[in-house]
Amino acid sequence: MMSTAYDVTETTRVKRLADRGAYDHETVHAILDEAALCHVSLVVDGRPRVLPTLHWRSGNRLYIHGNSKNGLFRAMRDGAEAAVAVTLMDGWVLARSAFHHSVNYRSVMAVGRFEEVTDPDELMAAYRAMMDKIHPGRWDQVRWPNEVELKQTSMMAMDLVEVSAKVRSGPPVDDAEDYALSVWAGIVPLEMVKGEPIEDTAPHPGQ
Ligand SMILES: Cc1cc2nc3c(=O)[nH]c(=O)nc-3n(C[C@H](O)[C@H](O)[C@H](O)COP(=O)(O)OP(=O)(O)OC[C@H]3O[C@@H](n4cnc5c(N)ncnc54)[C@H](O)[C@@H]3O)c2cc1C
Repeated sequence: MMSTAYDVTETTRVKRLADRGAYDHETVHAILDEAALCHVSLVVDGRPRVLPTLHWRSGNRLYIHGNSKNGLFRAMRDGAEAAVAVTLMDGWVLARSAFHHSVNYRSVMAVGRFEEVTDPDELMAAYRAMMDKIHPGRWDQVRWPNEVELKQTSMMAMDLVEVSAKVRSGPPVDDAEDYALSVWAGIVPLEMVKGEPIEDTAPHPGQ
């Protein structure tokens, strides 16, 4: 039977506030799919680096892409391990004390190695998945990348193996005596929403 959760390893075991940790595919994948971007970090030439970048997922594989000369991709090709963080902020948590202020969030962390995608079928499927995440159905509307564009771009994929999610939800948790304070407390919801599309009306050359 197919596993429906990622194995917990010593690296991915949530220790602080462990009850907020989750490893099931459903939770992890929903966060990865909803979040537009991730932060990828790795050590390059002995120094820590971080890259904010778009990501998307297909099954248990996480994709990122970018300029083929990207220094972090070079380190990945050389075998460097990467850590990925994906974050959704759902609300500010305003408590009655400064100490208990918090954030409602859903986040994912993954550790592993990215490899360059060279298989032509996987490559084109990955581009389709990226386009369709940006805007559903987009891949079937646009011009597909040509040879030069493909050469300028690296598609990198990581198999999701060491992965954890962490989720905080609900109201603030104050110290018992602080509930008597006359301080407003509650949640200020946060969400990223798509606005009304603004069409590019630039005339095309020769028009
Ligand atoms: C938007 C946001 C704001 C936050 N603000 C703060 C803050 O101000 N201060 C603060 O201390 N913490 C904050 N956190 C929580 C923070 O991400 C860590 O979970 C926390 O600091 C504990 O870190 P640790 O290294 O002790 O975790 P440990 O429990 O020791 O981490 C062990 C393993 O648990 C997993 N894990 C830990 N945290 C996460 C996570 N967030 N998502 C997915 N997997 C995780 C990883 O696999 C990690 O390797 C915030 C999280 C988010 C998403």
